[in-house]
Amino acid sequence: MNEAAARDVEAVVTDIEGTTSSISFVKEVLFPYARHRMEDFIARHGAEEPVRRQLDAVREAVGAPLGDDEVARVLCGWIDEDRKATPLKALQGMIWREGYERGDYRAHVYDDAVARLRRWHEDGVPLFVYSSGSALAQRLFFAHTTAGDLTPLFSGYFDTTTGPKQNPDSYHAIARAMGRAPAGILFLSDVMAELDAARSAGMATCLVDRAGDPGQPSGHHPVVPTFTAIPHP
Ligand SMILES: [Mg+2]
Repeated sequence: MNEAAARDVEAVVTDIEGTTSSISFVKEVLFPYARHRMEDFIARHGAEEPVRRQLDAVREAVGAPLGDDEVARVLCGWIDEDRKATPLKALQGMIWREGYERGDYRAHVYDDAVARLRRWHEDGVPLFVYSSGSALAQRLFFAHTTAGDLTPLFSGYFDTTTGPKQNPDSYHAIARAMGRAPAGILFLSDVMAELDAARSAGMATCLVDRAGDPGQPSGHHPVVPTFTAIPHP
């Protein structure tokens, strides 16, 4: 990013996995936790309206009048196939909320990301999240981190209901929702295709390459190993 671009940045949108936080927390803690507890959660809460609505959505998708335990098995199969079905995401969010509230785990955020996000917030820079996890899951994540409740730092959360992360239209939509020109927005991610899409929409970009992979091509994006090195005041 050149000096002018750095000066023009007025708001920040950040990815979570691989950017503010380790990929392993989501992959090795959150997803296995939801899979492990799916059957038990449905057995305990299946009669409650918000849960029943999601179970019915699964029955509709499968086209069969399955019992609750069969629905639970379908959902575990979807997790194994990495299906991004809406009822699955909704139920995972409910199970994760229970896990956070029980203190079974706390979300991981890198120290450098916490420090930088806090400083931006103190400097009056609006901060937003754009992640493939649901906006509810994002809020839960930042409300229960190893560094405490970080939700006061954020002004909003975008998920794939706004559009796919590799489509420039999604970044235009985010800029519109933020009420800002794309040029004044800095987007942070560990995935090149997402940065390419944001750049196409006119946003400033920065590739957060925590693995420090020297062979990783950076395209036109500035590369930083941590948030500390992001060239923005
Ligand atoms: Mg990522």
